[in-house]
Amino acid sequence: MSARKPLIAANWKMYKTPSQSSEFVTAFLPLVQDRTRDEIVLCPPFVDISAVVAGTRGSNVHVGGQNMVWQEEGAFTGEISAPMLIACGCTHVILGHSERRQFFGETDETVNKKLHAALKHKLTPIVCVGELLAEREAGKTEEVLLRQTAKGLAGIAADLAHSIVIAYEPVWAIGTGKTATPEMAAEAHHIIREQVARSLGREIADGMRILYGGSVKPENAGALMRQEEIDGALVGGASLDPHSFSKIVLY
Ligand code: PEP
Repeated sequence: MSARKPLIAANWKMYKTPSQSSEFVTAFLPLVQDRTRDEIVLCPPFVDISAVVAGTRGSNVHVGGQNMVWQEEGAFTGEISAPMLIACGCTHVILGHSERRQFFGETDETVNKKLHAALKHKLTPIVCVGELLAEREAGKTEEVLLRQTAKGLAGIAADLAHSIVIAYEPVWAIGTGKTATPEMAAEAHHIIREQVARSLGREIADGMRILYGGSVKPENAGALMRQEEIDGALVGGASLDPHSFSKIVLY
């Protein structure tokens, strides 16, 4: 049995208004209220954070941002900083999601800057890595995971790194209904963990939680999470409904 506490995070992407978020929380909390085995995190759009923080106050459910910038404040129209997320009640932040990499120019270098800033402000970062379908088909999965992990972690001091969470999200499995088999995911997690050991040392690597993301559903959550190498899940589509997300939390 791994000593790593599983983390199950909901990525709502660009779905839900503040009132829809409150409705979700009202329905969701009673379904998971006694659950202490896992760390449960909801990552709503920025405009919903206040509603979700208010609704989850005093509960076992944490709140995270879906992105942030590395500067603390300034003339950066449209951006949100780590101190702002903290001030709103966030404890976690997703960094480098593949949709940010694909559509908004996120690179390994910007993910790295954001990671430094998140750690400085004591947000728990969930750093996403994962290969495209073309990269998997070209036999480049390992190369991509090693590069994204090494560059993402560049310059991070080992004594600050214990809170870092990595999410392995094969891009071909996100929102497609295709899931990596538990064995494929476990193999990718092993590759990532070995790179973490090279970057930050064996002790940090052994303690680091590596989540799987990509079409996790109530039906496949148990099989994935039973893999020794898989320390939880980052869930998109199936996290939008309180009942389906609670079934994943209760796998
Ligand atoms: C995600 O958004 O991180 C994700 C994994 O989405 P989905 O579960 O819908 O594939």
